[in-house]
Parts: sequence; C-alpha cells; structure tokens
Amino acid sequence: MVETAMGTRDDLAVCVKCVHLLANGTGDEPVADRMMETWPNALMVLGGASLGFSDQACDGCSSPLAGDRFTATVWWDDFYEHVTPVD
Ligand SMILES: [Zn+2]
Repeated sequence: MVETAMGTRDDLAVCVKCVHLLANGTGDEPVADRMMETWPNALMVLGGASLGFSDQACDGCSSPLAGDRFTATVWWDDFYEHVTPVD
C-alpha cells in the first residue's frame, strides 16, 4: 500500500540567506543543507515580499538569528517516507 501526504504552506517567513538561495538557486551551502533537512522532499518558492524585522527562527533554514524576513511558499510530498512494503 502506498500512502501519500502532500501539503503546502504559503505563510513562511524566510531569512535573507534563504532569499539569496531561492532567488539564485545557489548560495551558502550550510544554509542549503539546513533547508533540505527542514523541508525534505519539498519545493520552496520565494514570494519576496518584505515582512520586516523578526527575532523568530527562519522558517526556511531554521536559523535562530534575528533579521529581516521575506515571504515564501513551500509544497511538500512525503511520498517516499510513507511507502509501506507490500507483502
Ligand atoms: Zn533561512
């Protein structure tokens, strides 16, 4: 049996490093690694609207550093983590 779990969140607040990563496709490798760990099997797209200064952790890379935040949307698909072997 195969179960799929898909979802989306359009209210992400991501840090400047995530903005550079999402806008350019490349960037700070540790930031990219943390984003992959935070959002496995996910597609994140930059909205880019400024949300101003925040001291909350970045929703993209989980960085605890305060700073400016920008909008982003993420879609995820847990398909690969929820495949149940068939007898
Ligand atoms: Zn970030």
